[in-house]
Amino acid sequence: MAICSFCYDRQAIAFTTRVVNGESMNENYCLKCAYLSKVPGIFEHMVSAGINDENIDAMADKVEIMMLENGGNGDFQSFFKNLKNQETDYHPFAGGKAPESPAPVREDTDKKEENMPDLEEVRKFFEGDKYATEATGIVIEKAEKGHSVVSLEPDGRHLNAVGGLMGAVYYTMADFAFAVAENCILDSDTITVTQATQMNFLRSWHGGKVTCTADIVKDGRYICLYEVKAFDKNGTELALIIVNGFKTARNKHPA
Ligand SMILES: [Zn+2]
Repeated sequence: MAICSFCYDRQAIAFTTRVVNGESMNENYCLKCAYLSKVPGIFEHMVSAGINDENIDAMADKVEIMMLENGGNGDFQSFFKNLKNQETDYHPFAGGKAPESPAPVREDTDKKEENMPDLEEVRKFFEGDKYATEATGIVIEKAEKGHSVVSLEPDGRHLNAVGGLMGAVYYTMADFAFAVAENCILDSDTITVTQATQMNFLRSWHGGKVTCTADIVKDGRYICLYEVKAFDKNGTELALIIVNGFKTARNKHPA
């Protein structure tokens, strides 16, 4: 996983090597910086895929989500495959060489199985979380140990007096996404509860589905730290929530 050498903000999806005064320099571009810099061999593909000045920000945000979904793995080619939903045959690393392992395998098969519970079973279990599922209407989209995605189609019940999305909606989504990612291994003898959260509201919501991703940052013996991000339907980041969890014996907290 590499950060863009230009904005130092988004994940890099294209890698080039440039020779300046006999010295070769590696440059990593995020989608937006590759577009703005008109990187040869990449820019043309972006234009033909329909990227333009109007949608580049939303596209760049989409790539960020895609990278999150893939655990930080992703490249230009896989992004365009997703975008166009068809095979592409060009080489993504135009004008340079590919990094040694652009898409490392995250974990071995056994571990994957162990960390990937059955989604329907997880949904069934978390139906017990009535405030999140019934009162609020949050749906679990993805559940694996250390990573989850939940979503909500807000309606009138979720709004504040000025028509915005109530902060508590983000809180509930973040708390629930965290709980699902931490507690989706249903036969585990520990359960993790929320110890502290920090909410950062980044942008206002302008309608449509809200999606939250929860990703583990640090897994300790008794505590863990998660980064939860809320996105709108265009992939624009609305809120960043940091959740600290505390691990305890499951029988102390009956489901
Ligand atoms: Zn960039």
